[in-house]
Order: sequence, then structure tokens, then C-alpha cells
Amino acid sequence: MSLHGEYDPQNIFAQIIRGEAPCYKLYEDDDVLAFLDLFPQAFGHTLVIPKRAAARNLLEIDADALCKLMRVTQRLTQVLVDELQPDGVQVAQFNGAPAGQTVFHLHMHIIPRLAGQGLGIHAANQAEPAELEELQARLVKRISG
Ligand code: AMP
Repeated sequence: MSLHGEYDPQNIFAQIIRGEAPCYKLYEDDDVLAFLDLFPQAFGHTLVIPKRAAARNLLEIDADALCKLMRVTQRLTQVLVDELQPDGVQVAQFNGAPAGQTVFHLHMHIIPRLAGQGLGIHAANQAEPAELEELQARLVKRISG
């Protein structure tokens, strides 16, 4: 998919927002939802998405909604750093398939990084449910604590 085209309301993140598909939810408010990436590129890989905007990418969301998305992204980045104590943290976002986008609902990636440990393959290896559940519980506790 290129940068241009129609928003598909059947994309997986739209289904997650509507509660039609499951997710390992970390945080939700009226505007933003955050959950663990099912195919993490590193331990703690988290996704943050706008709930109201039918935006495929950064260019299709209004500035107010983008600010709300970024506010939560910053807050959850801090939560991940506090809980997992990584050596670095990558915050990334892709627009269009040639740029690496595979799900066409705008999202921010937050990826904790450890020194000397390369990034896992993008959207390739599904994490164990037990590992995701345990991590979800740790992070939710810190978010709400
Ligand atoms: P991107 O390639 O930037 O569009 O990122 C999409 C991300 O969504 C990838 O990191 C995938 O691993 C992740 N992903 C795909 N399907 C799901 C899902 N059902 N639940 C959680 N993460 C997903």
C-alpha cells in the first residue's frame, strides 16, 4: 500500500479498537489505546494508536489528536523505561509499505533496546501468550500505580 488510498475499517487495529479482536491492553482513554505488539521486535515492544481518527498514517490525523497520541506515547515510554530499565528506547512510526508499514492505522512503536542486542525481525515472530500476559500485568500495575 502506498501513502495514498482509503482507510480500511477492517484493518486489525480498527478491529481491536471496536473490541472485535483481542489485544494485550496496557492503557486506554477516550482518544488513545496502547497494547503489546504480538510480534515484538524486543521485550516490551508496545504500540500506541489513536482511537477516533480513521488515519492510515501521520499525514491523515489532525494536530490535536496527534498531540494526544504523542502525550500517551511519551508517558508509556517513561513507564517502559522505569519498569524494564533498558539501555535505550526506540520510538518509531512508518508511513506506507515502502517505509515498512504493515498495518494501515496510524501507530507509534515503543521498543525498549538493550546494549549489544539487535532488533528482532519486524512483525515476524509471535510472542508466547504467557510472556505477554506476565508483561502486561507488570506494566498495567506500574501505569495505574
Ligand atoms: P507497522 O509495520 O509499522 O505497520 O507495524 C505494525 C505492527 O503491528 C507490527 O509490529 C506487528 O507486529 C504488529 N501487529 C500486527 N498485528 C497485531 C495484533 N493483532 N496485535 C498486536 N500487534 C500486532
